[in-house]
Amino acid sequence: MNKYDVIIVGSGFAGSTLARKFAEDQKKVLIYEKRSHIAGNMYEEVLDNGVRVHKYGPHIFHTNNKKVFDFLKQYGEWYFYEHRVVGKINNILVPIPFNFRSLELLYNQEESQKIKDKLKEIYPDQKKVSILDLINNSDETIKKFGEFVYKNVFENYTAKQWNIPISEIDKSVINRVPVILGYDDRYFQDQYQYMPKQGYTKLFERLLDHENIEIQLSTNALDDLSIQEDQIYWKGEKFSGIVIYTGQIDELFDYKFGVLPYRSLDLVFENYDMNYYQSSSVVNYPNEEKFTRITEFKYFSNQLIPKATTILKEYPKKYQIQEDCIPYYAIIDDENREKYNQYDELVQKIPNLYMCGRLAEYKYYNMDTVIERALELYEKEFQ
Ligand SMILES: Cc1cc2nc3c(=O)[nH]c(=O)nc-3n(C[C@H](O)[C@H](O)[C@H](O)COP(=O)(O)OP(=O)(O)OC[C@H]3O[C@@H](n4cnc5c(N)ncnc54)[C@H](O)[C@@H]3O)c2cc1C
Repeated sequence: MNKYDVIIVGSGFAGSTLARKFAEDQKKVLIYEKRSHIAGNMYEEVLDNGVRVHKYGPHIFHTNNKKVFDFLKQYGEWYFYEHRVVGKINNILVPIPFNFRSLELLYNQEESQKIKDKLKEIYPDQKKVSILDLINNSDETIKKFGEFVYKNVFENYTAKQWNIPISEIDKSVINRVPVILGYDDRYFQDQYQYMPKQGYTKLFERLLDHENIEIQLSTNALDDLSIQEDQIYWKGEKFSGIVIYTGQIDELFDYKFGVLPYRSLDLVFENYDMNYYQSSSVVNYPNEEKFTRITEFKYFSNQLIPKATTILKEYPKKYQIQEDCIPYYAIIDDENREKYNQYDELVQKIPNLYMCGRLAEYKYYNMDTVIERALELYEKEFQ
């Protein structure tokens, strides 16, 4: 008889949400986490200068899913936070996504008025329009404006982020880049936009604080778990309980169909002896600089620390399988999806193995979608 009913690999939102659900159902859960801390990419830590930073890049919670927010509210207090981003275009900081204010800052008054009037005339009832729509418009003013936004906001930023020529970017991606038809300068329009008052790490501590949950940090689960002939083995013995895997699916199967590629980031933190470094939490640098954006964390944590602040610069890079390189963004195209499906076929043969999360499913998920996915998996398979 095994000591645990459920083994969960990974303590990010996917693994931790499921761990809590099983634990409340009186199942004994063991979580493996290869890092030295819980919370996956949501982990926050306090630096020597007192500033609380998001160690794996800035994370802003936003969702339209009430169920997800209700679930999270049980584990900590949240404060209302609407995210706003500016971008440095032609040396001027303008709201991103591009809106009427951005237009006014970058064009002279006569021109900006002309473009705004045309936008209102052509898209009378819309709150936003995609840049692809603008570029394909038959009106010369609108078309030129669309090309300006494409070139200055999207083109170089995307090339930096993905390191591929812009011609290879899927049209559907370009189609999702909006221009806001008005002055709404919020980065997200979701119904629930909040940040955890005491930070994500505290939230995870509460989420995982249950007598039925045991956590083993700094341990690669694959040192103890293996798959042989469609059976799961744990410490050399057949394991018939449930295994939830939230790590990289290709690693689980020893990359037998090849490596699933990702983009990674060099995250460079800098400390300054000043109250604030920049005028908003995130400034995008779409063009000249090698980094894509600078985040200043005091805007998220609301910490009143005089003469100390910390910023983060993000430099995109290729993901390589090595200890200090983190797979951040799945490069999802037909070829890689096909490779993923081959791995997934192996998973389907193992009745007690379940994949959940951004790495296991090879998808770009926001945190709310990961939680939603974990709750749905639990309800469908285990409730
Ligand atoms: C730079 C960046 C910014 C983002 N910003 C936002 C944002 O603003 N808002 C938002 O909603 N979403 C954001 N996201 C998405 C968000 O990070 C993810 O949705 C969420 O973290 C996914 O949770 P997860 O549990 O699937 O994965 P993770 O958080 O990555 O957790 C997986 C865990 O599994 C562990 N693990 C893997 N393999 C093993 C193994 N073999 N043994 C033991 N442990 C293992 C890993 O160490 C990790 O801790 C952002 C993502 C990135 C990359």
